Amino acid sequence: MNRTFDKKESWTNKKRKEAQDELLSSMVKLGYKKSATIKKIFYKHKIDPRQIKSREDLETLPVTSREKLVEMEMQEPPYAGLENPDTKIDRIFTSPGPVYEPHLSENDYLWARAFHAAGIGSDDIALNAFSYHLVAAGLTFHTGLRKLGATVVPSGTSSTQIQVQLIKDLKVTSYVGTPSFLMNIIKKAEEIGFDFRKDFRVKRACFAAEPLFPAMRLSFEKDYGIDTYQMYGATEVGDVAYECSAKNGWHICEETIVEIVDPATGKNLQPGQLGEIVVTRLNDIFFLFRFGTGDLSRLITEKCSCGRTSYRLAGIAGRVGDAAKVRGMFLAPSQLKMVQAKFDNLPLQAVVSREGHLDKLTLRIEKNKQDTGDSSWEENFKDIFKEICTVKIDQVEYVAAGTIKPEEKVIVDLRKW
Ligand SMILES: [Zn+2]
Repeated sequence: MNRTFDKKESWTNKKRKEAQDELLSSMVKLGYKKSATIKKIFYKHKIDPRQIKSREDLETLPVTSREKLVEMEMQEPPYAGLENPDTKIDRIFTSPGPVYEPHLSENDYLWARAFHAAGIGSDDIALNAFSYHLVAAGLTFHTGLRKLGATVVPSGTSSTQIQVQLIKDLKVTSYVGTPSFLMNIIKKAEEIGFDFRKDFRVKRACFAAEPLFPAMRLSFEKDYGIDTYQMYGATEVGDVAYECSAKNGWHICEETIVEIVDPATGKNLQPGQLGEIVVTRLNDIFFLFRFGTGDLSRLITEKCSCGRTSYRLAGIAGRVGDAAKVRGMFLAPSQLKMVQAKFDNLPLQAVVSREGHLDKLTLRIEKNKQDTGDSSWEENFKDIFKEICTVKIDQVEYVAAGTIKPEEKVIVDLRKW
């Protein structure tokens, strides 16, 4: 393992929970005292602030989606009355909506943990290709990198031509930005006539704000020798999770309570079950409890080989609206894509219907190979499907090759609501 950035990352779960519960309880008390909005929410839900002492108690509070936050801020600009009026806010960011966020100063420190986990340090010259204009990304990543002593090239959203020049002239060693933009920069460099691997020194990249698809990751690592890491956060709550060198899930940040909930009820699901990521950032500036990200993930509670003890998120499986619920479990298009990838991109489609009062999951599979559909093949397929999607298939329907068109939805929900 690479050394952790601070000792909290190797705390026992008990110690972490105690520290988080204490911070939560003081955030609730302070929020109730300072914010009329929080007082109103608690009154509406008949909650006594003294009742909320641990993460389990959070469930009594409603989940606030981005849409809801925008609505609340429109009614009471600029922060919906959720801020602490006694704290001097150092920066104000915006995100689409518009929604305004007072800067949470501890964010800077936390991104440093993420960069450290990716192996960035004081010897690095990091190109920060996130926008510095109004949005949080540019400046917060910048300060996180500075915390580690890295030199930052604040290139922001400059053209690919300029980025290529900066990487070359300044001997940049790491990239921070979106994966698609890095690929565009590489393509631009190749177009100009450079060999990215030989002529440049970029050895690692930290990505956020966009999914990193496996094929693109493989290309960065194999074709260009760039070690890649993913980071996950939202302007409303700062950083949420980051990937370590084990690359098997994203460690949840220390000052962040992450719940995986059923979006319909706001209730917590079991570890391993797919649900919405709901975040509470423990702080004393902005009292936003249970921010509903709309992203789907699973919680990994097993120990990570890197030595960090925090629970992990199993990446992002998609958006809440794209998934279908089958017998209480979410099935997301990205999970089906993972199954497909295990079977040579076999065209398939999940059909959810209802028989009586029960959900039924039918898998339509193209019979495009000799052995597709053999009993041993089907058994293996069902096992892998269950492993990835956690839902059992009720019926398999084989169709002729070419039947499932690429433009068709991968999950079809026939149930009438
Ligand atoms: Zn790890």
